[in-house]
Amino acid sequence: MLEDTDPDHLEAIVELSLKNADVLKFRLAQVAAKFGALKRWRGSGSNRFGRDRLLEALEGTPVYDEALRAVLHEELAVERTAEILTAIQDGRIEVATVGERTPIGRGGRSSGQELLAPENADASVIRTVKERILDDRILLYCLHCNGWRSKRTVGSVADQPECPNCGSTHVAALNPWADEVIDAIEAEEKDDEQEKQTERAYRAGSLVQSHGKQAIIALAARGVGPHNAARIINKLREDEEAFYRDILEQERQYARTQSFWD
Ligand SMILES: [Zn+2]
Repeated sequence: MLEDTDPDHLEAIVELSLKNADVLKFRLAQVAAKFGALKRWRGSGSNRFGRDRLLEALEGTPVYDEALRAVLHEELAVERTAEILTAIQDGRIEVATVGERTPIGRGGRSSGQELLAPENADASVIRTVKERILDDRILLYCLHCNGWRSKRTVGSVADQPECPNCGSTHVAALNPWADEVIDAIEAEEKDDEQEKQTERAYRAGSLVQSHGKQAIIALAARGVGPHNAARIINKLREDEEAFYRDILEQERQYARTQSFWD
């Protein structure tokens, strides 16, 4: 396929294959809701039949074109892929077979497509969620002495993280890019937003203090703040798969309600 597919036909081929893809149905329902074509969309996976009907009903309309355009140009990189195909076919890029997963392959596995998998996620989907979260980076910050911060992967965090300076276990797990949260915590005079951010960080810290790494894993999931992390942890799931299943469910909830793709 890499050597025989005409790069000029790529967009048409992708467009055809999208017709059965959940990603298009999902986008279609979002766009339709935005256009007001749907009064209210309950984007549940159990509604697969409804989404197929929606696709049939809207094909050829501006709503459909807009959803297709969004998927083709915002979520996929068709032009870049065509360039790569061209480079493979004229010998500028070599195709090699390796026996393990490559960094690009791993990236593809965890780029969020598990969010689009059927509702009753199977074990491999759950494993992908787990791998993605354990690979994510998190910033640990000591709320007791304010003198320690450390960026690391979720997977490498100790079961009960502790500040090496003061020994406190009141450690917040923060988004590693959220410098403004640390500014907020450390600000002497806080505005309303900073008060909120500080309160959230303290709630996250209490959760980590009482539940250790499990809290950090939950907090690292997409769209899971201290409130939902606490809810997930308080279910006290004994088996790990059920725990990650709850996390995935929460991420899906977030994907439905937020404009996850923007
Ligand atoms: Zn400390």
